[in-house]
Amino acid sequence: MSSRVAVLGAGTMGAGIAQACAGAGHEVLLYDISEEARQRGLDAISSSLKRFVSRERMSQDDADALLERVSPSASLADIGAAAVVIEAVPEDLGIKKKVWQEAAAAAGEGALLATNTSSLSVTEIASFTGGREQRFCGLHFFNPVPMLPLVEVVRARLTSEETVQQAVQFAEGIGKTPITCNDTPGFIVNRLLIPYMNDAVHALAEGVGTPEDIDRAMKLGANMPLGPLALCDLVGLDVALAAAESLYNEFQDPKFRIPPLLRQMVRAGQLGRKTGVGFYDYSEKG
Ligand code: NAD
Repeated sequence: MSSRVAVLGAGTMGAGIAQACAGAGHEVLLYDISEEARQRGLDAISSSLKRFVSRERMSQDDADALLERVSPSASLADIGAAAVVIEAVPEDLGIKKKVWQEAAAAAGEGALLATNTSSLSVTEIASFTGGREQRFCGLHFFNPVPMLPLVEVVRARLTSEETVQQAVQFAEGIGKTPITCNDTPGFIVNRLLIPYMNDAVHALAEGVGTPEDIDRAMKLGANMPLGPLALCDLVGLDVALAAAESLYNEFQDPKFRIPPLLRQMVRAGQLGRKTGVGFYDYSEKG
């Protein structure tokens, strides 16, 4: 059943989530404080749709209709009619607090409220909603949203079971495969993936092998589609470091220790593909 969805934040994730929701027939309000970001979000959806059309995975008419269903908005006052509100503003507790204090007051009474946070506590973000914790959960999408099927439905401390079930149904309704999990640092995917990438960096620093050796070993020996260091370059070393710090700080467990090499590369601006250099060289000459 289609309904209205409000997506807060029109960046990488917000635009992808808006596209997935509109693709399932929902009317989507795409809110962002920045006019430039709203336009960038719409442009990102258009470019993604162009690729779907050129690969004959969608007709031009369907792509046009999908885009029509996405309306940019500059005001949280517009979200009152949304049945589902999904927040994808930056991974900063202060920003999320400010957005949710306003959004919870503006959202309709029965609305399902969700955050797309990767590494913050969903329970803590829920506490900013002024008493709406039972209707609040995590809906953790993966990048690029139009391509990746998984959504982690995160049960915070006070989330009601009805809310979890509605979130699962909502995720299925937009063509995703939901799994439910409790609100613990990193949920499931990042809790397993971040230490794996950390270990690859430790192995490199200890001279176990070259980046090529380490990545090829995991591709050919463990059937991984991408080696851990190439994956780190794709994710962004700064993003990987922030997630690693969050896991380490929350668990206080040395098994999540952060490789000094990762920190040093971030300090040097070697962030992976986005800066042209990470564990591999992506510049023209590289
Ligand atoms: P982004 O920086 O691409 O987008 C964030 C958007 O929020 C920007 O357009 C910005 O203008 C907007 N914004 C900033 N302050 C705002 C405010 N007060 N009100 C409304 N909008 C505001 O970030 P992103 O990569 O899309 O990440 C968003 C969230 O999704 C984060 O919590 C992140 O941890 C999570 N996440 C990211 C990824 C990823 O791979 N990028 C994957 C899963 C989850």
